[in-house]
Amino acid sequence: MIIIDGMADRELKAYKDKSKKTPLEIANIPNLDQMAKEGLCGLLDSLGIGKRAGSDTAILSILGYDPYDVYTGRGPLEVAGTKIKFKEDDICLRCNYATVNDDFVLLDRTAGHISEGTEYLEKTLNEIDLGVEFKLKNSAGYRCVLLLRDDDLSPSVEDATTEEGKKIEEIKPLDDDRGSIKTAKVLNEFIKKSYEILKDHPVNSKRKEEGKMPANIILPRGAGVIPRLENFYEKYGLRGAVVSGIGLVKGMGHLAGMDIIDVPEATGHIDSDFMAKGKAALDALKTHDFVLLHIEGTDEVSHDKNVKEKIMVLERVDEMIGYISRHVEDTLVTILADHTTSTDLGDHTADPAPIVLWNGDFITDKVREFTEREMYRGGLHRIRGMDVIPVILDQINKSKKFGS
Ligand SMILES: [Zn+2]
Repeated sequence: MIIIDGMADRELKAYKDKSKKTPLEIANIPNLDQMAKEGLCGLLDSLGIGKRAGSDTAILSILGYDPYDVYTGRGPLEVAGTKIKFKEDDICLRCNYATVNDDFVLLDRTAGHISEGTEYLEKTLNEIDLGVEFKLKNSAGYRCVLLLRDDDLSPSVEDATTEEGKKIEEIKPLDDDRGSIKTAKVLNEFIKKSYEILKDHPVNSKRKEEGKMPANIILPRGAGVIPRLENFYEKYGLRGAVVSGIGLVKGMGHLAGMDIIDVPEATGHIDSDFMAKGKAALDALKTHDFVLLHIEGTDEVSHDKNVKEKIMVLERVDEMIGYISRHVEDTLVTILADHTTSTDLGDHTADPAPIVLWNGDFITDKVREFTEREMYRGGLHRIRGMDVIPVILDQINKSKKFGS
């Protein structure tokens, strides 16, 4: 299964001649087109028609875990994706290294996409005296996670804002519970102390000298406790593995008991080595029945509203998919986007996203190109995230019959 995050798009409003095309329609993607031609195509509404999904809830549903039952926030999934040791009642948050000015106005929610020196920042941050047990751990780039451990804490707290141009306000509790009030207080203390300890940190002095944004504050959000996911192997009888550059997807895989394949070249950004990931996924197929390969770059450039880069990333992804299609044997390949990310809006929308099954025993349809528009003619029609694994299990003849 290859999830190309936020690959699907809307018609671009202002692209060149206003030709009303989508990035998939503009990009040169011969391998994806070929697989759409030979495969069984359709559209995916991961959470249901008209529902805007986050990557977390979308991918949970695609793996067959109903997010309306199991989802406890993005923080816990990110925490599970790091190698941090967690306990059942820990409050887990995902955080950004970010840049604020002296008035606490957010200038850059990624601290200039910081990638160097974060080990040193992590070490310093863990020396903060917070009055409760905590641990901060880097995940990838500007992303890190925070884990709070104390008797009476609660995940019912607001997120810190990540909207650039806004002032960082105090996090408020979402209810009157004593634990929520305490947790909000602890988080506000942590944010304040992170600024004090980071603003003149050597890593940041160096960044400022180099004209880069300093990572002078930590912004936590997505508080929750670790969710319980049924073991993937027990659920489907398939030994699963995950190849991904981002903590969220690794975390989901880890909680579902799948093996996480570390690919050092997988950065979770557009500079990620897709081919290295593709090869790692092919390798994992030798020892696993199911491999989830997740590509983040397409979503990242869509959030940045960068059409040119989205087209470039799609073309690079296509090369990798071509390589995979030439090297798999006896393997059903499913290619899909978890949701649409509109490059014009810079955010997710509920428009249905392409899904293609290739190399199976199905009746092929009349789709000729891998585009959102063509998929409307697909034989799979429109399905939900929770339908994906059942369709796959049927194709590989692992479905159980209901009735006699
Ligand atoms: Zn996504």
